[in-house]
Amino acid sequence: MQPFTPDLSHFQEAVAEARTGLSVGGLPIGAVLVRNGEIVGRGHNQRVQKDDPILHGEMACLVNAGRQKTYKDTIMYTTLSPCMMCTGTIIQFGVPKVVVGESRNFKGYQDVLRLAGVEVVDLDDEECIGMMGGFIADHPELWNEDIGN
Ligand SMILES: [Zn+2]
Repeated sequence: MQPFTPDLSHFQEAVAEARTGLSVGGLPIGAVLVRNGEIVGRGHNQRVQKDDPILHGEMACLVNAGRQKTYKDTIMYTTLSPCMMCTGTIIQFGVPKVVVGESRNFKGYQDVLRLAGVEVVDLDDEECIGMMGGFIADHPELWNEDIGN
């Protein structure tokens, strides 16, 4: 039983961000931040494009959203299970709900999110699994750099 019902149209916007990143040679990881049914921020991993190790999909999304008075009424949609940096940022700002595309290619830290009281839904989405899996197979060095391996 999922703790809440994700809006799949918002999830598809995160997937669209991932596709955009992939189309320019970046890591196919996208995210959107939603409040009251509206997307207030969106982004995709920009590590390769901007030579910036911090700009994971979730981080780029939060940067693009700009300063927010509160995150307590937001939902983060991301195509891949969040790494420790993004998990920490989600907890830091108090984002209460996270929808994850998949955690097969990268387990991430959903257990840490849940321990901090964040509600997590993992969609186990076929397209995300395929897109990320394909990228890792084609560019293992870029992926290992992403997660500090
Ligand atoms: Zn991350």
